[in-house]
Parts: sequence; C-alpha cells; structure tokens
Amino acid sequence: MSKNIALVTGGSRGIGRATALLLAERGYQVAVNYVNDAKAAQQVVDEIKANGGEALAIHADVADENQVVAMFRKIADEMGPLTALVNNAGILFQQSTIENLSAERINRVLSTNVTGYFLCCREAVKVMSTRHGGQGGAIVNVSSAASRLGAPNEYIDYAASKGAVDTLTTGLSLEVAAQGIRVNGVRPGLIYTEMHASGGEPGRVDRLKANLPMQRGGQPDEVAQGIVWLLSDAASYVTGSFIELSGGR
Ligand code: NAP
Repeated sequence: MSKNIALVTGGSRGIGRATALLLAERGYQVAVNYVNDAKAAQQVVDEIKANGGEALAIHADVADENQVVAMFRKIADEMGPLTALVNNAGILFQQSTIENLSAERINRVLSTNVTGYFLCCREAVKVMSTRHGGQGGAIVNVSSAASRLGAPNEYIDYAASKGAVDTLTTGLSLEVAAQGIRVNGVRPGLIYTEMHASGGEPGRVDRLKANLPMQRGGQPDEVAQGIVWLLSDAASYVTGSFIELSGGR
C-alpha cells in the first residue's frame, strides 16, 4: 500500500497543529509548515515522532512563490509524492472598520490567505493529478464562517479573503474532479487559538460565545476532525463540499 503523505500549512500552532497531530495518528507522514516559529513547528514534529509517527518541519512563506515551490520540492525529495494538502496558514490584523484599511494591509491578507492557497493548490495538483502521472489525492481548504458573516467592524478584508477561498474550492473541485483529486473546504467559527490576539482581542471567543447556538467556543481538535475526515477514504465521494464547524452559527 502506498504511503499517505500530507502537508499542513501553518502546522506549528492552532488548528494546523491539531490537524498535523491527528493526521499522524491516522498514519500519515506529515510535513509541518511554518513561517516564523521554527521551535513550535519542531515541537509538533517531535510530538509526532515520540508517538511513533514520521514528520518534517518545513519553513516557507506561503505567499512567496519561490518558497512554495521549494517546499514542495523538499517534500518530494525527503518524503515522497504528496497525497493530501491542508491549506490552513492564514492571517488577520487589528480589528478595524474600513476607514483604516490600507492597501498594504489588504494586500498582505490577500497574498497569504488567497495567493498562498492558490500556489499550494497549484503545486499539489501537479503532484497528485492522474493527468500528470500522479496517484490522485485530496485537498482541504480552511476557510471561515467569516466568509458568510463578513466580519463587520472587525476585519472584512479577512472575511473577503475567505470568500475567495470558497470560490477557489468550488472551481478547483470541478477542474480536477476527473483527475483523481477531491477538493473540499471547512468553515470554522470561533475557535480557541492565538489568531484572535492578532486582531487585538485574545479573549474574543469568550466574549462572543454566549451568542452562539451551542454557547461555547470550539477547540482546534474539533476542526481537525472534520478536516481529517474530508481527506480520508471515508469521504471518497465528497468533493466541492463545505463543512460548517461553527457550533451552529
Ligand atoms: P493561528 O493560531 O494564528 O496559527 C496560524 C498558523 O499559520 C501558524 O502556524 C503560522 O506560522 C502560520 N502562518 C501564518 N502566515 C503564514 C505564512 N505566510 N506562511 C506559512 N505559514 C503561515 O491560526 P488558527 O486560528 O489556527 O487558524 C488557522 C486557519 O483557520 C486560518 O486559515 C484561519 O483563517 C482559520 N480560521 C480560524 C478561526 C479561529 O477562530 N481561530 C476561525 C475560522 C477560521 P508561525 O507559527 O510560524 O507564525
């Protein structure tokens, strides 16, 4: 049986970390991508190895085309042909209304959250597509409930980037459905990670949780479970679909 080899972008913490650990538990070799925190990525790799799994930490800014290409080359050289991609690396900035959104900020959000997802999808398709001699594979794009809700007064630039991720997911799923590749998305809601601190409010989930139908925030592992299911053979007839992982919101 051929090996399952997965890349999780932004695998050093939060949802990406939980996904990398769960994939390793399910027998995948995991490439753990990060951009700043080499130590955190290495800790994820060490934890996987301590549990008998195989993993590799790989630095790359997903917004940088050359770095993405080099990352995929490294995975091919050191692990083998990729079978699963989790596009997860995402950023947002200080909560703000539109008056204070600069072009520089908007472009930074879009280049990581949208261009980065495109570039990783492109490189993954080149490896996986049966049209290029590959064995097929599965891609999950981590979007957000913000793509539906718009994140008014917080970060509509971020929400719009997730709208683009949803459209990428739909379009690519149709483009590669006959090439052995499934492409799906998840839309997490309010999840306990460090991302909210980037928006200037580390306690955001606790402030808002009472408004949620389930009246609690979600844990990274609850998102990872949905991602890993979509990648698995249990979801073999699922493509172009989205799972709302948002406690009913
Ligand atoms: P997080 O805790 O802030 O972690 C972000 C991860 O992305 C880190 O591993 C970070 O690496 C990496 N990263 C950031 N920019 C990168 C770049 N340019 N290249 C490569 N890696 C990069 O975020 P999270 O909350 O787990 O979010 C993960 C995904 O879920 C994002 O796409 C986010 O939009 C989505 N999401 C989150 C929530 C939520 O409530 N948390 C809700 C909906 C959707 P370093 O550690 O090296 O900095």
